[in-house]
Amino acid sequence: TPVTVFKDQTVALFGLGGSGLATAEALKAGGAHVIAYDDTEAARRKAGEAGITVEDLNAIDWTSVQALILSPGVPLTHPKPHWSVKLAREAGVEVIGDIELFCRERQATARRSPFIAITGTNGKSTTTALITHILRVAGRDVQMGGNIGTAILSLAPPKIGRVHVAECSSYQIDLAPSIDPSVAVMLNITPDHLDRHGSLENYAAVKERLIAGVEGGGTAVVGVDDDFSAAMADRAEQAGKHVVRLSMHRPLADGIWRDGETLVVSEGGAERFRLNLAGIGSLRGTHNAQNAAAAYAAARAVGVAPEIIAVAMTRFPGLAHRMEQVGTRGDVLFVNDSKATNADATERALVSFEDIFWIAGGKPKAGGITPLAPYFGRIAKAYLIGEAADAFAATLGTAVSHEIVGTLDKAVAAAARDAATSGLKHPVVLLSPACASFDQFPNFEVRGDAFCDLVKDIPGVALRPR
Ligand code: ADP
Repeated sequence: TPVTVFKDQTVALFGLGGSGLATAEALKAGGAHVIAYDDTEAARRKAGEAGITVEDLNAIDWTSVQALILSPGVPLTHPKPHWSVKLAREAGVEVIGDIELFCRERQATARRSPFIAITGTNGKSTTTALITHILRVAGRDVQMGGNIGTAILSLAPPKIGRVHVAECSSYQIDLAPSIDPSVAVMLNITPDHLDRHGSLENYAAVKERLIAGVEGGGTAVVGVDDDFSAAMADRAEQAGKHVVRLSMHRPLADGIWRDGETLVVSEGGAERFRLNLAGIGSLRGTHNAQNAAAAYAAARAVGVAPEIIAVAMTRFPGLAHRMEQVGTRGDVLFVNDSKATNADATERALVSFEDIFWIAGGKPKAGGITPLAPYFGRIAKAYLIGEAADAFAATLGTAVSHEIVGTLDKAVAAAARDAATSGLKHPVVLLSPACASFDQFPNFEVRGDAFCDLVKDIPGVALRPR
């Protein structure tokens, strides 16, 4: 997508990772003069090779700069603004990100093309992928990107009849002051990323901007099972937005709610449609029922028929590293939930299975696994790895049988052996670390892939296709 809204103007750009480089190229393709920088030499060199002008932003004339484009990973306010942000602010220059550029481009070129934006603390990627899958099955021209992988400006440009589906992190929304999706999905708000936003209130306020921004005639889809999100739904409605509420814990007269393994679509107290999720392995668990409800509402909002949505759901392959069923050996199921980098995400996995041989640990987050105590009864044994091992062992105490094994390969070997000889009915070897991966792996994907490779090497394992 060439970004034409800064044609013949000068923009500074900080952060030349994947999305930063794509953004610089999109701006250049649209006729802007881009001056870019990154703290790492390798990123600067790569950008230079791609024909991007690389200069130290400390040394440029900021009076001629129209905007600073920031990568979402670079601190805007917390713990303190990045030096490039300080320079921009001193010069009165606005600081924005790639999603903002996409929105302005869409406003300027294809105002009426559908734009579905998804946020929330957990479930963003699953919901984004599920919406995209449904739209593809429905035969729509759809482009998916943002936080989920492809940089939004690397996608084909907005045009009438084409749907863009974007996963938006709170960082990206923070950098998109005029974000105006036709459909906004706000799944849930729980503590995470407070390092960047300071407080839960701040973090929620940033996410609320996505709903508040919904364009006229658009739809806000909001999970109302946490207080922050429920209040947001009320405010959006008061502001005249069309709101679709989702609850997994109570019936709704208007909205989508869960009745066992069935989603019920209600309007004005009447039941309009029932969506049966039983047997859809990729959408197992209450949290996935919420993601399915959100995807249903979003697909409906852009005109897909309920029956087509229902069929599409049964064919959803699911996402790697999110409760991904890797394979079986006899009765033992192996599940890769490497994406669960906090206790909240791990809780979803623990409630979805019983007889769990649990592999956990890594680089710990504040609060550790204390919030998981209500589910300790589901854990047959825990295998602890990484920096968090000692602290997790202390939390498990005498309540859960556990072993500090240190590394993932030892954990998989021990868990597979114990599960096979346990005599339990549905033993599950579950990697759901409740930790970041950075102490032992470059990222959660590499950690999940390592788990899959270890499972693959166990003699007699039947693998599920990925
Ligand atoms: P995100 O992109 O927001 O990080 P994912 O779809 O990648 O979310 O899911 C990450 C993890 O979060 C999953 O493995 C699961 O444990 C948990 N999760 C997924 N959907 C939800 C939800 N709707 N509510 C709570 N937790 C969820």
